[in-house]
Amino acid sequence: EPPAERFEYQAEVNRLMDLIVNSLYSNKEVFLRELISNASDALDKLRFLSVTEPDLLKGGGDLDIRIQTDKDNGIIHIIDSGIGMTRQELVDCLGTIAQSGTAKFSKLLKDSKDAGGDNNLIGQFGVGFYSAFLVADRVVVSTKSPKSDKQYVWQGEANASSYTIQEETDPEKLIPRGTRLSLYLKRDDKGFAVPERIQKLVKNYSQFVSFPIYTWQEKGYTKEVEVDEDPAESKKDGENEKTEVQKKKTKTVVEKYWDWELTNETQPIWLRNPKEVTTEDYNEFYKKTFNEYLDPLASSHFTTEGEVEFRSILYVPAVAPRGKDDIVNSKTKNISLYVKRVFISDDFDGELFPRYLSFVKGVVDSNDLPLNVSREILQESRIVRIMRKRLVRKAFDMILGISMSEDRADYEKFFENFGKHLKLGCIEDRENHKRIAPLLRFFSSQSEDVMISLDEYLENMKPEQKGIYYIASDSVESASNTPFLEKLLEKNFEVLYLVDPIDEVAIQNLESYKEKKFLDISKEDLDLGDKNEEKEKEIKQEYGQTCDWIKKRLGDKVASVQISNRLSSSPCVLVSGKFGWSANMERLMKAQTV
Ligand code: ADP
Ligand code: MG
Repeated sequence: EPPAERFEYQAEVNRLMDLIVNSLYSNKEVFLRELISNASDALDKLRFLSVTEPDLLKGGGDLDIRIQTDKDNGIIHIIDSGIGMTRQELVDCLGTIAQSGTAKFSKLLKDSKDAGGDNNLIGQFGVGFYSAFLVADRVVVSTKSPKSDKQYVWQGEANASSYTIQEETDPEKLIPRGTRLSLYLKRDDKGFAVPERIQKLVKNYSQFVSFPIYTWQEKGYTKEVEVDEDPAESKKDGENEKTEVQKKKTKTVVEKYWDWELTNETQPIWLRNPKEVTTEDYNEFYKKTFNEYLDPLASSHFTTEGEVEFRSILYVPAVAPRGKDDIVNSKTKNISLYVKRVFISDDFDGELFPRYLSFVKGVVDSNDLPLNVSREILQESRIVRIMRKRLVRKAFDMILGISMSEDRADYEKFFENFGKHLKLGCIEDRENHKRIAPLLRFFSSQSEDVMISLDEYLENMKPEQKGIYYIASDSVESASNTPFLEKLLEKNFEVLYLVDPIDEVAIQNLESYKEKKFLDISKEDLDLGDKNEEKEKEIKQEYGQTCDWIKKRLGDKVASVQISNRLSSSPCVLVSGKFGWSANMERLMKAQTV
């Protein structure tokens, strides 16, 4: 028998195991979710690779997950027929923290400790393989990769700083492909090795795993067996029926046996009939798939037919991702693409969704793309272009739906989180201006506390107004104090306050809304429709010299000094040239170059 070789864990692994055990102590049962999700990932990898290398599937049977419990000895076996691990992969994957889930967990744990700590929140995140030690003293992983002709056994113990790897020699444990993971439960946790308990946990945690999960269950069927008549009883009932011919009696007994039982629903949620899926189902799927802990703000489940057929579920998250100021971050993994139910990729760069909408999350499943679809194909495919168009339209419908919610707070919350993205859309996506503009919100001279929509602005517009007036500034307060407003307030014209740095550029890109032009009230050519040419001429003549004198005194500091009819109580105002930057833009540009 080849000897077991001993390895030390990477130092971080020890620390992480401590963290997991200490912070998740009250939420131990997540171990099963983690291990099933690893099995499912391994099956996904295999299915994906087998598209181009069909040989990988050879002789390995069905793609499934099986969980067997040994109640008497307190052991749980989780067996998958996935991609398995080579000897080197065992070292790399189970001896170091190179992997996403666990690394993310330790970061989250740190963040949440800094923020006061919230164990419940932590429990919702992927914590990975080491969660096995929440319930097990000893973990044995016997695994066979199709890349290797040998099967290897990894063994680790709770609170140990090393693990061993050796070749599998037990013929009973040899598998054609995949991984067989055995948990030798701690004394107090042996209760997990009960078929009913495992069944319940699988149903709770893993209902959206797209491979069948079988659990080993005791079953029974009833059968009729003939029994000899009980003499005592026959006497009792026999009283009135003495004449009847004696007949054989039968009795119903339950015959017990053990068998695999399908425990999860394998139909992916997006293939189900939307009428049969509850909001809770959608929310659960969302949280599980995107590693979120809050319910989404909205979801949309649809099928498109015609030129290109696909099914999709899209979501608007409740909050923007933490610590991500860079909203154009293109690698958000927000959309998972499936082709004929096979997961292809979630690594897109604007092919399926414009970058400014990358906060929308979802799954898309199409039968019309080739399984071995590559980035290049995606970029050039006409099908993908059509899909993208439809997805964008649906995303806007969903957002519009939130804006029409009876509870105004819903949309306020949305806009607070994702308003910037929409404004970026004004700049990047001319084609969808008509869809974006109604979703924008601004403060205004008549609504300084609650943001209004452009439609609300239009409703409130005076007939003599030339357009939609706005002033860009750094706050509602400073906007409301600007002298440019005086005349407009006098006429009761509403003025939008653009107080988000990106607002002004967004509005300039839109140019107009429902045929009303956006007009910057700080520009010199502002026409309020009350010009009196005669009188202006007169005044200009009278004060012409005064203006010349002021201009001389100020020199290069101003471009010109002019008589204006825009003020009612302030003596003078600084305005921007018609073609120049507004004062606000000037301020922003300055801030950028410093
Ligand atoms: P994550 O799943 O986030 O990558 P885990 O700690 O859960 O992190 O798992 C670490 C790695 O171990 C996985 O990325 C995978 O490479 C490997 N692994 C774990 N379980 C299995 C399995 N059942 N089959 C194949 N590989 C596995
Ligand atoms: Mg994992």
